[in-house]
Amino acid sequence: MKNLKKVLLVAIIIVSFSFISSKPLEPKKINIVIDASHGGNDFGVISNSISEKQIVEQVTNKIKSLNSNVVIHLTRSDDQFLSLEERADFINRIKPDLVLSLHVNASLNNKTSGLEFYVAKETEFFEKSNEIAEKLNDKFSENTNLKMLGVKTGPFYILKKSDVPAVIIELGYLTNENDKKYLIDDKEQNRMAKSISEFISEMK
Ligand SMILES: [Zn+2]
Repeated sequence: MKNLKKVLLVAIIIVSFSFISSKPLEPKKINIVIDASHGGNDFGVISNSISEKQIVEQVTNKIKSLNSNVVIHLTRSDDQFLSLEERADFINRIKPDLVLSLHVNASLNNKTSGLEFYVAKETEFFEKSNEIAEKLNDKFSENTNLKMLGVKTGPFYILKKSDVPAVIIELGYLTNENDKKYLIDDKEQNRMAKSISEFISEMK
């Protein structure tokens, strides 16, 4: 009986070791920073009682809660003010594979509507960011009925100062009635979060 136990123990040890040694190396995880813009005293765009800072925070937290195989870092998860410098410092400390900065748009013309992406020409990551933004545009168009305004360029601080690929997503126009309904709708916000979550889960 004693010997049988010994044999079993040895067998278990051998099996465990062979398992460890044959285990493939874990692939490097993709790291993403989701930057919920504005916050605290900075409300961003406001329409009646609805503000940009709330919408982007809600969508950001939905992205975080969707179980994806990537590591998601948030510049903010609650209603706090962060300067652009603090955001860029946070990003450059982490050095993620991608930064997605979420915003909501405004126009003096209340007929202007749609979803658009921004990348900055003034960085070495312009081409990569542009390629990512184009793919994100395709992913969003599968999941939304909102007008797609495409990828544009702009010298935005967070895009220029991030030492990694970075894209601003303007989720829609709060100054347009249709877009506003879409932006504050819980189901639509889930679909926005799903588009982003699916895209980053497929990144390699
Ligand atoms: Zn904004």
